[in-house]
This record gives sequence, C-alpha cells and structure tokens, in this order.
Amino acid sequence: MTEPYLEIDGIRREFGPVVAVEAVRLTIQRGEFMTFLGPSGSGKSTTLYILAGLDVPTAGDIRLEGRSLLSTPPQHRQIGMVFQRYTLFPHLTVAENVAFPLVVRRRPRAEIDAKVKAMLRLVRLEGFEDRKPAQMSGGQQQRVALARALVYDPPVLLMDEPLSALDKKLREEIQFEIRRIHQETGVTILYVTHDQEEALRLSDRIAVFSKGVIDQVGTGEELYAHPTTRFVAGFIGDSD
Ligand code: ADP
Ligand code: MG
Repeated sequence: MTEPYLEIDGIRREFGPVVAVEAVRLTIQRGEFMTFLGPSGSGKSTTLYILAGLDVPTAGDIRLEGRSLLSTPPQHRQIGMVFQRYTLFPHLTVAENVAFPLVVRRRPRAEIDAKVKAMLRLVRLEGFEDRKPAQMSGGQQQRVALARALVYDPPVLLMDEPLSALDKKLREEIQFEIRRIHQETGVTILYVTHDQEEALRLSDRIAVFSKGVIDQVGTGEELYAHPTTRFVAGFIGDSD
C-alpha cells in the first residue's frame, strides 16, 4: 500500500435545507485516476468545488500529503480544473489562453513560450496558436482547456463532466487523449461523470455517489462483479 496522497475526510455541505454532500470520505493515491460517478444532484460537483477551493464544507477536512487545504486559497492549491463549457477566454488566442496561468504567475516570457508549445504538442494542437476559441470545434476547445489546466504542472487535475457537451466520436477521441496525458504526466486526476461507460473506460477506481454519499468505491471490475448496494448494481449495470 502506498500512503494516502489526497484525503477527503468526512466533508459535509448544506445549502439551507438541502444536504448536498454528507460525510464523504475518500483517499486518493498519487497518480491515481479516480472518477466520481453518479446521477445528477448526487453531490459530485459540490465535492469537486470544495477540493478546488471554490466552495467551503460545513464540516470535515481535505488534506494533500497530510496538510489541510481548507485555508489555502484556490490559486495556491496547485490544482488544475477543466469544466464543461465556457472555460476559455473568447477574446484571447489559443496560445494566450494556454499561457494565462503562467502570465498571472509572472513567469519569464521564454519559459511561457516553451511551455505553451509543449502543452499544445501534448494535446495535439500544434499550429492552432493564433486561432480564437470561436474558430475551433468543441473538442478542440476542450483540448485547449486541458492544455491550460496542465500548463503550470499542477499535481492534481479536476475535471467536471468535461466531455458531456460533445458528440460520441469526439468524446471517445478526447477520452483517449486524457488517458494518454494521464500516463505521460503522472498527474492525479479526479474526474466527474454521470456516464458509467466513460467511468469504466477511464478510471483506476470509481466512487459511486448517491444522494450526497459515496455508496461504494472500487475498480470497475469490482463494482461490476460485487456491487454492495442495489443502487450500485442498478447504476453500473444499467447501460444507455
Ligand atoms: P451533481 O454534480 O452530482 O449533479 P451537485 O453537487 O451539483 O450534484 O448538487 C448536489 C445537490 O446540492 C443538489 O440537490 C443541488 O441542487 C444542490 N446544490 C448544489 N449547489 C447548490 C447551491 N449553490 N445552492 C443550492 N443548492 C445547491
Ligand atoms: Mg455536477
């Protein structure tokens, strides 16, 4: 066993009478591809926002390598993020979008240029430097968002349904790219989806969310072969 890397320790989040997340507890290993799978409203995004520092839990703690992250502001958490839409700055070019996290960190120009070039190679968008987001397909835009999220080498990457707006062919193409990037960079990934097929295809382990709690955590094979709740059995087995 490797020692815990990222720990979600009993977090809870209420919105008035709604308990969005209740006592969620999960340990993620360094370099792991962990997916939060569950239906709409089950608390996946809320958990991710709390990890990102965009939301605060009403109880519980999150720790990276043993240190609590709760008092660390989002821009200092070293966590990259990719969300479903509207992630790129429409008035900036592809190169400027990817460079942005390094510009705000005041890195030297030569380093920025080299890094942007390397990232666009990683997501296979060399030659697209001067385009504006509106001149690119949805799939290409998501690859730019991925390049921008990874450009400052965050050890952790959060993705909230990044492919759900895309058609099946593009989705499969980018799933393949995400897997390759995960293998090439060793980044720890927390990925949110409501699509069980996508979860099974991408993940080292899957945490199945239901009504604000994690019902079961395991590899796709474990969940499929030995579901411990009726909900997991129905959700994993039920393909669309
Ligand atoms: P998921 O990402 O799994 O679809 P969410 O984490 O977005 O689920 O939401 C979990 C529950 O919390 C839902 O019932 C949702 O309506 C509620 N919720 C989430 N964010 C807010 C908010 N800002 N204000 C009020 N209720 C919220
Ligand atoms: Mg969500």
